[in-house]
Amino acid sequence: MIIDFRSDTVTKPTPPMLEAMLKAKVGDDVFSEDPSINELETMAADMFGMEAALFCPSGTMTNQIAIKCHTQPGDEVICDESAHVYQYEGGGIAFNSGASVKLLHGDRGRITAQQIKEAINPDDPHRAHTSLVCLENTSNRGGGSCYDFNEIRKIKTVCDEHRIPLHLDGARLWNALVAKNETPKLYGETFDTISICLSKSLGCPVGSLLLGKKDLIKKARRVRKVFGGGMRQAGFLAAAGIYALQKNIERLSEDHAHAKQIAKTIAMKDFVKFVLPAETNIIIFELTDFISAPTLVAKLKEHNILGYAIAPNRVRLVVHLDISPEMTTRTIEIFSSL
Ligand SMILES: *Cc1c(COP(=O)(O)O)cnc(C)c1O
Repeated sequence: MIIDFRSDTVTKPTPPMLEAMLKAKVGDDVFSEDPSINELETMAADMFGMEAALFCPSGTMTNQIAIKCHTQPGDEVICDESAHVYQYEGGGIAFNSGASVKLLHGDRGRITAQQIKEAINPDDPHRAHTSLVCLENTSNRGGGSCYDFNEIRKIKTVCDEHRIPLHLDGARLWNALVAKNETPKLYGETFDTISICLSKSLGCPVGSLLLGKKDLIKKARRVRKVFGGGMRQAGFLAAAGIYALQKNIERLSEDHAHAKQIAKTIAMKDFVKFVLPAETNIIIFELTDFISAPTLVAKLKEHNILGYAIAPNRVRLVVHLDISPEMTTRTIEIFSSL
């Protein structure tokens, strides 16, 4: 039994999800003629109370399309220094949009309204035009940390005062919604655009959605084509998404419970300096000088547990749909024995 905590992207479709995919009605989505994709886009937009949605191959693409739609070359984007849009999208902000980035030092990936206010450039020809603020919820490198919605409200007010749009990288927003007992509509009424992933904790093989106003999504559809993301009979993938939105959201609380149990055991080990609070499905822990992250990851692998060294002294484990209660128990046993 291999217990794979490298990412929540490693899940494989379950038999009922595969069945839903097989039965999908499909058409050419570049002509907007794929009934399953149209259904998924409407369903997601309705969940968030937003006007429209666009189905894309990846979360990187939905983020990059949003940034492209909100900015002009030479503009500046504000985000946390650990943000996926900056760290893990191949320099896409510069490559695709010709924009620069102002990085803020947040608390486990979360930035504040005050920090943003101070980072917005004045209207001065010497300075880049600040044209977008990006938040990430949950924060990946923050160990699955969740924003306090009151802070998001304050951030929205700052953005409104400066007429700057607000984008949410919500690759794992589902985890935050379940952990904090929040509704998608709360987010839909606050953000200009939201990127959500179906291929992360919801267990789909492929797919993300960009949500926003009708006009913006129309523009986004054009940008998606330019980026090479116009798909044809991708309704087979959208059908997995529809299934996941109906069946796989509530169960995320099980992943969160597993993550908390595992984190508790890890925190007791003498080779662990600290564990970031396991608020959702991600466990990040820092090691003492006695062992490096790659060494521990190799040691875990000998016990068929796969993790990921995200820094020389930090390891990340991600709990997901394919981690069973038995696997959680086994993982706790292994850590206890180390
Ligand atoms: C995984 C992830 C994405 C999107 O990644 P893809 O692999 O391109 O789907 C975006 N943001 C965050 C925070 C992520 O963790």
